[in-house]
Amino acid sequence: MRVILNPKQDAHVPPGEIENGEVIPCYERPERLTAIRTALEAAGGHTFEEPPVCTEDAVASVHDPAYIVYLRETAAEIRRSRGSTPKVQWPTVFPYGPSPRAGGNRALRGQFCFDTYTPVLGGTFAAALGGASAALHAAELIASGTAKQVYVLTRPPGHHAERDRCGGYCYFNHAALVAERLAKLGRVAVLDLDVHHGNGAQHIFYDRGDVLTVSVHGDPAGLYPFFSGYADETGTGAGVGANLNVPLPPGTGVKEYRPALATALDAVRRFAPAFLVLPFGADAHEADPIGGLKLPTGYFREMGAAVRELGLPTVVTQEGGYNLDALGPCVAEVLRGLEGV
Ligand SMILES: [Zn+2]
Repeated sequence: MRVILNPKQDAHVPPGEIENGEVIPCYERPERLTAIRTALEAAGGHTFEEPPVCTEDAVASVHDPAYIVYLRETAAEIRRSRGSTPKVQWPTVFPYGPSPRAGGNRALRGQFCFDTYTPVLGGTFAAALGGASAALHAAELIASGTAKQVYVLTRPPGHHAERDRCGGYCYFNHAALVAERLAKLGRVAVLDLDVHHGNGAQHIFYDRGDVLTVSVHGDPAGLYPFFSGYADETGTGAGVGANLNVPLPPGTGVKEYRPALATALDAVRRFAPAFLVLPFGADAHEADPIGGLKLPTGYFREMGAAVRELGLPTVVTQEGGYNLDALGPCVAEVLRGLEGV
């Protein structure tokens, strides 16, 4: 498969993430991509390429321009800073009240972020723009008919990024960027198979009838991102019926995951899209440290093969997956299934 890389991914290396008030080691780190690339090279049959750098205007197709400027300027300020300015900026206060006002950087940190896992560093904007570039290049390859299947190998991931907020390690929403580009040509389905709810695309397209968003994930009552991903979220306005969530209880294994995926795939078929975007995370694997589901490595080829049956031009975006031993093999298997090899 054609693999599009983010050439700037290692510009963003947070020193930790804040969990329940403690700084713990980051689950989301550059070694993840090394593990995936190593597995794909060992599997063979993949070509790797870097994208041209996209414009901020292109990113603004799904993100608030003020949010883009915030990330760019904050990263630049951190790089320029000497002395007291922190090298990592974490939000500590989030917007409240009916008309929150943000008068300075400390407020903006909370305005443009929704958790304590997703700090801004000097290299964050470059890494995020590199990921957006990779996603948009993949979209162009599909739009032009040059490729039928493309895999975007990038980090930080994207599917939790909202129109105007980072969160869940994500800054720019790669799947939404691809979907928005391809929606100019025909109906698009976004099928999110990361173990965490694909909140970003759901919200960005919630009132749209031309982009279907479907997500199969661990029940948000107990799993990140907690505030969305329930089965009764079905869209609004023109988007009513164009969002489907399939939440699964902790410990779900292949036996229960298989029919859930079939339900998701049926919804995609009924929507009759021209294109598919597949935000994929290997964090539904049984050895993932934060996912809570129980899928074995061998199932991921079946997962890919089931998606292949849709017969759609497809962009796969790399999302989560935090067990460094399982991650590479899971990606290799899902791509093998998608390619039918
Ligand atoms: Zn995830």
